[in-house]
Amino acid sequence: RIAANDGIAGKAINSFLSLSRDRAMAQAAHIDALAAKGEPLPPLAGMPIGIKDVLAMQGAPATAGSKILEGYRPPYDATVVQKLEAAGAVLLGKLNCDEFAMGSSNENSAYGPVKNPRALDHVPGGSSGGSAAAVAAGFCVASLGTDTGGSIRQPAAFCGVVGILPTYGRVSRFGLIAFASSLDRVGPLAANVTDAATVLGIIAGHDPLDATSSVRPVDDYAAALTQPIAGLRVGVPDEYFGEGLDTEIRAAVERTLEGLKRQGCEIVKITLPHTKYAVPTYYVIATAEASSNLSRFDGVRFGLRSAESKTLSNMYRKTREEGFGPEVKRRILLGTYALSAGYYDAYYKKAQQVRTLLARDFLTAFESCDVIVGPMTPTPPFKLGEKTDDPVSMYLADIYTVAASLAGICGMSVPCGETSGGLPIGVQIMGRHFDESTMLRIGLAVE
Ligand code: GLN
Repeated sequence: RIAANDGIAGKAINSFLSLSRDRAMAQAAHIDALAAKGEPLPPLAGMPIGIKDVLAMQGAPATAGSKILEGYRPPYDATVVQKLEAAGAVLLGKLNCDEFAMGSSNENSAYGPVKNPRALDHVPGGSSGGSAAAVAAGFCVASLGTDTGGSIRQPAAFCGVVGILPTYGRVSRFGLIAFASSLDRVGPLAANVTDAATVLGIIAGHDPLDATSSVRPVDDYAAALTQPIAGLRVGVPDEYFGEGLDTEIRAAVERTLEGLKRQGCEIVKITLPHTKYAVPTYYVIATAEASSNLSRFDGVRFGLRSAESKTLSNMYRKTREEGFGPEVKRRILLGTYALSAGYYDAYYKKAQQVRTLLARDFLTAFESCDVIVGPMTPTPPFKLGEKTDDPVSMYLADIYTVAASLAGICGMSVPCGETSGGLPIGVQIMGRHFDESTMLRIGLAVE
């Protein structure tokens, strides 16, 4: 299917940037051999899974969607990659994404945009657009994406698949090319809630190689999914249903809430009063951290090196000028500005303070509800090219995603219908820190 429809040849959907054919075939043979011997099979035996190209697979390209990493092949596996393979998964290769995971449409990839398999002239969302499209197109049963400010949940909604943002610290970031380290998270995308929960159960857990990974034991998500949902309190935030929300999306989310009520949930009105500050706060913190993280790409240690330079400093400058795309440069400039002497208190420090207020909003809300449900995106998938000239309107595609990112709580997107034009609509479910179980139960109920 990949050969016929993704087009490493035809460039039709353009979700895979590279295929790890030998590794996949070796793993498939290994699983076959286990089966032939009648040995018990691991939980993901033979499941074809794709990996976003910001995660390291030993010896395979890892471009992060950027020209600056052209030619770089990490000498090790990300922890999540290792865990999937140990669980029997067949890893097919690396998936297209916005450059360094910066974007909401997958149009910022240096290797061309990904197309939405549900409507080829529309974007798949981003930055994990390849991860969502590959599942929606049936190239793999699940994929790994990363979500810093919406990049798993928003493309999942746009492509009509399930995407999970695990609690910060639930899944190891070792082997992830960092964008904004205090926000970056790795999570699964899949065609349904049960598959996504299964993959989450495999990749979650403490990793001594990631100092921010939690030692809390991982819940048994499969067992959680068998629990009834009657009696659970579903919080509905006023602020997520304001101006700018597409009417068909609003109607689909309202229908979902009615369905939950019929299944015995109590619908509770809640308020997240600092929501209007979430997007600006996110874009100060994320760009500040990115400007620092991306300083390592200097033409010496990884990938691309500009050929023409006579001096070292000129080589740094040229490499970064040639290697980074326009959105990445914009963010390095924004972040460097926010961190510079004289502006640090006004921007970066203030944003950190507002981040705390946003997190408190959720802690207070979760005193009166068990999960929060609302729209995932303000609009359905837009057309390729529609927003590329207007970065701010692109940033607003994440209006409902970034608050959960800043607060560190878990979230997920589940398909909940489609527009009159047949475009997918996703509903967002958010849960308490480390309470993926309750979130997944609600996810299964709305599916
Ligand atoms: N769209 C957001 C951004 O461009 C989120 C990206 C992400 O979650 N990686 O920063």
